[in-house]
Amino acid sequence: MPEIASPRGTRDILPADQAAYRWVLDTHSRVAELHAYRPVETPIIEATELFARAVGSDTDIVEKQMFTFDDRGGRSLTLRPEGTAGVTRAALAARLDQELRPLRLHYAGPMFRAERPQAGRQHQFTQLGIECIGERSASVDAEVVEIAWRFFAALGLHGVQLQVNSLGSPEDRARYREALVAYYEPLRDRLCDDCQRRLDTNPLRLLDCKRDAQFAESAPKIAASLSRESTEFFGRVLEILDTAAIPVTLNPRLVRGLDYYTDTVFEIWHETLSGAQNALGGGGRYDGLAALLGFAATPGCGYALGVERTIMVAKELGVAPGAAAGVDVLVASVDPPQAAAAARQARTLRDAGIRTMLDAGERRLDRKLRSADKAGARLAVVVGEDEVRDGNVTVRDLSQHSQQRVPEAELAALTLRILGMQQ
Ligand code: AMP
Repeated sequence: MPEIASPRGTRDILPADQAAYRWVLDTHSRVAELHAYRPVETPIIEATELFARAVGSDTDIVEKQMFTFDDRGGRSLTLRPEGTAGVTRAALAARLDQELRPLRLHYAGPMFRAERPQAGRQHQFTQLGIECIGERSASVDAEVVEIAWRFFAALGLHGVQLQVNSLGSPEDRARYREALVAYYEPLRDRLCDDCQRRLDTNPLRLLDCKRDAQFAESAPKIAASLSRESTEFFGRVLEILDTAAIPVTLNPRLVRGLDYYTDTVFEIWHETLSGAQNALGGGGRYDGLAALLGFAATPGCGYALGVERTIMVAKELGVAPGAAAGVDVLVASVDPPQAAAAARQARTLRDAGIRTMLDAGERRLDRKLRSADKAGARLAVVVGEDEVRDGNVTVRDLSQHSQQRVPEAELAALTLRILGMQQ
């Protein structure tokens, strides 16, 4: 029978990759919590309607990238393609915004999009993000950008580039839409098939198109369609970022793929990522989202960052941690009759908080020691016939090839001392 492979576009996160994942996820939790954001988890499956309404039915995500299926009762469910819609639904359904405003939340977890798999683009990938729900202010927008910035700084990822733009209010956007249609309509026949369709459904997306980039160059800029209020709001965001010494690049063509954004939008790019996958993440303000989901109008602002792309860049820059050893000490019996005594020593060490691997199998001792060394153990505790008879154990330092015999009762204290751990 053929071996079963993992589904297309998915990857196993094997033990050797876990250190890098944990480093990214733990660093993000730490930075987010320093800014008083609290963790939240939402289901991986959601009603399809959530994304159809929130993300927008004429976006690439909803049109062609969702994993959607019917449950046994015929209800349409979707594997979440992004986190903001679910977190907003969860927070507002639980009325959390009435206890605390603004509500600051952070999350991490798997997301699913059926895009053509390639480097930095998978069907299942991991995002982490924050949402600040319940306040419309320039200071919140700047805080959200600053947290993303500080997160990459905490990882030591230099060369990160912040691209920002403002999409203004829904009215500004409608005005801009008209200006874009007026500009692109005479060019319709020269646009790619996707853009010809987008011209009718979602003209802002034309600015994203890599194939028609030459037309985007001279397309009208959104700044010209912004109201005074929107322009001032964006100006204040930029001013705060400037005070925080966070360098920004203004990018008038940045529109983001999702429909729910208003006002400030931003992306974080890195030069080592290329082409369509150059973004580490992005976000912005989404004041219209709550109402689209059927809740009272509630402003919000947040971002989502890709964990796999962050690790790719960190590896490229040499700042990602390597695989970590999963064991400190091997306890090995010499012959089968010492199996129970070896298991007892292992228990003593684990009770003292030492990561201990027990090898009481029938292999020869030198084989046991070799595999413990390969697994990264510092010490081996050897339990043979003599040791059991005398109430001793032999403690061998695998890196220095030295050994000593100690009474059983002293094993834990000695091991802790050699490993440099607190008693
Ligand atoms: P988006 O919600 O599309 O702005 O995505 C935010 C970030 O998530 C991107 O910048 C990527 O780092 C990551 N991301 C999005 N889609 C994928 C994917 N298919 N595979 C891997 N990472 C992704």
